[in-house]
This record gives sequence, structure tokens and C-alpha cells, in this order.
Amino acid sequence: MSDDRKILAGWVDQERERIVSFFRAFIRCRSPNPPGDTTEAARHIGDFLSAEGLEFRVIAPQATMPNLVAAFDGAGPGKHLVLNGHIDVFPVGDGTGWTKDPWGGELIDGKIYGRGACDMKAGTTASIFTYAFLHRIRERLKGRLTLTAVSDEETFGPWGARYLVQHHPEVLGDCLLNGEPGSPYTIRFGEKGPLWLEFKVRTRGAHGAYTHATESATKLAQRLIADLEVVTEIEPTVSNNIARSLEAAREAVDKAMGSGAADIVSKVTLNIGVIEGGLKVNMVPFACRFEADIRLPLGVTREQVMAEVRKVLVNYPQATVAEMNFNPPSYCAPDGAMVGIIQKNVQALLGFIPAPIVSLGGTDARLWRYRDIPAYVYGPFPHGMGSADEHVDVEEFLHIVRVHVLSAYDYLMAG
Ligand SMILES: [Zn+2]
Repeated sequence: MSDDRKILAGWVDQERERIVSFFRAFIRCRSPNPPGDTTEAARHIGDFLSAEGLEFRVIAPQATMPNLVAAFDGAGPGKHLVLNGHIDVFPVGDGTGWTKDPWGGELIDGKIYGRGACDMKAGTTASIFTYAFLHRIRERLKGRLTLTAVSDEETFGPWGARYLVQHHPEVLGDCLLNGEPGSPYTIRFGEKGPLWLEFKVRTRGAHGAYTHATESATKLAQRLIADLEVVTEIEPTVSNNIARSLEAAREAVDKAMGSGAADIVSKVTLNIGVIEGGLKVNMVPFACRFEADIRLPLGVTREQVMAEVRKVLVNYPQATVAEMNFNPPSYCAPDGAMVGIIQKNVQALLGFIPAPIVSLGGTDARLWRYRDIPAYVYGPFPHGMGSADEHVDVEEFLHIVRVHVLSAYDYLMAG
């Protein structure tokens, strides 16, 4: 190891209490989205950066959803690496199912609990400390490092990373590193794309005994939903290099996202997230609406899916469809420079090689990939993500910090 790599790794060890306490206090800064108010959590980050003597900008096109951006140049020319993490978290609702305080940041038996623990205040903390530690050795560093800690991620909102990449091209860089949850065994180079559709079925309706007088909107919807399964049979078209990566990563994908995940990474999936229809048990419903969450793998387009949907709808003149949201699937090179760097570091630290994978869910990293900037995700296991008792293992969290610190350094020094 070079002296600087030793120094950087040493800081993660020597300052582990400080890193852990920053992270736990970050969880205690409530930032559920909706409503997405991240001012307290952003202040926590700003206070840390100021204490480290680091300058930063607050870019807040929506006042309650600030984004923090900081950047510095190393001593010599080189690549521009961008670190990205979000500050907002899923909501907690009434806390049902939680056995720990969702906003407590409690440390119990080597695990840190709270909403946002794995998604993704752990990863954002890794980005922040990576930025701070590399800044300390900037006089010996090449290239440029940018930190973006953003709001408004959980609802695909317009005020966070989307705003930055549109209005502040200085945050694009040559490569993005992000710590969204995945698993220490995987590096995400791509993700599926959600297409959300709203369907409405209308009929005349009638008294519940007069089933001869009208069609039932709920029964039509039920048949329509069954017919929509046809979208899951669309075959993706991907390059050999992507197909090989997907095949090689099957075991790692199941490990990271649960058994069966590898089977659906390359398939269109259909989830009917919401159904509403009917007023009363003794009325034949005149209206039914439902929302479909269709996930597109790499190599399937919105046009392909909509063509199938329209074919189905020919048999349902009572039904209409409208698009609610769409983000195309995204990917970058599964064998990009950052992948090799992360693999080497993880192998040296833990003795295994993480596999490049495509994830089922989405992250802000897609916004960089849409602009042809390679964007990779290396983060902790998603324990309790979006549900109860979300937590992260402390040693795993520190491993993520270590890998981000060393990999950012290696990427920049490779020039
Ligand atoms: Zn996230």
C-alpha cells in the first residue's frame, strides 16, 4: 500500500467513533419523504463540513429540500469523480412493526437502527467522509472530487439530483460513486426502469341484483389485469457483454436481493400496486381504477411495453390508460475502471470479489448514466429497507466507508 492509502485507511480506523456518531446523529435528523423536508439533516452535514474546514454550496430550488455540493481540485490534472448520496428517507407511518425507535439511531449488538440506516444515510456518510479524508491529502492528489448530498430522491422528485444534473453540469464529472443499499457482494452498474400506468374502467353500473343490466367495472378490471401479464413475456435485447455479466452475477443477485431475484432481473415484471372500485356490496360497480408498476429490464423499451398494453386494450373498450411515471432502465460498462478498483479493494479487505450486477430498484445513479457517465453503486445490505427495523451492521457500514475512501483515491490516482 502507498503511504497515502495507509493514511486513509488509518483514518477510518482511528476516527471510527466519530464516523459512527456522525451517522447515528444523521439518522436522528428526521427527513421522511413525503414530505421530504431535509433541512435538519442537511444542516447536520453542513455543520460537519464546516467543522472540517470544507467549503460547500447549498443549492435549494425548493427551500425545504436543500442539496449540498462541494468540490476541490487535487494538485495535478486527472479525472473528475463525483460522490453522490441522498439525505431524504422513506416515511415511517405510525411506526407499526418497529421494535426500535425509527428516529433513534440506536446502536444495539453491533447494529445501528433507524429509518434511513441502510437507505441510505450509511452510504451518504461514506461519501461525506470520503470527501473529507481525500481533501486532507489534496496536495498529493490528482484530478477533482465533487460531493453531492441531495434531497428529493425517494419520490423521483424534481428538486434533488434531477435539478442538479439539469442546471449544474459541474456535478456530472467522469464517473459517479454512490452508496445506496445493495450488498458488499455486489457492484451495481445498472438498474431496471419503472413504468407506472393508471388504468380506468367505466361501465353504466346497476343495482347489485341487476347483473344483466350492465357490465361490472371491477370484473372487467380483474380480467384486464390478468391479460396484462402478457407484458412479462417480452424478451429483452442486450449485448453479449451485458448478458454475460447478468449470467455470471446470478448467485450474487440472489444473495443481495433475495432468492429468486436473479430470475426477474432480465424480465419485465408487473405489480398491481393499487385497486379501487365499487361503492357498496349490493351495487354493480360503474368504475374501477388500478395502478400498475411495470419494471423494464435492460433491453426493453417503453414502446414495446405500450404496444402490448394497447393490444390488450383492444378487447377492453371500457378501459383507458395513462402514464404516471417512467424512468428508462439504465446501465454503464460492467467492466469499467471503477468496478475493477472496487473489486480489488474488497478482495484485499474481505477476501471475495463483488460481482457487477443490475438491480431491481432505482437510484439517482441512473441520472448520470442517462448522460453517458459511468455510475456505480456499492453499499450495505438493505435490512428492513422501506419496512420496519431498518438497520445496518456497524462493521459492514465501516467496510463501505473504507471501500469508498480507498476506491475514490485509487480512481483519481489512476489519472
Ligand atoms: Zn435510496
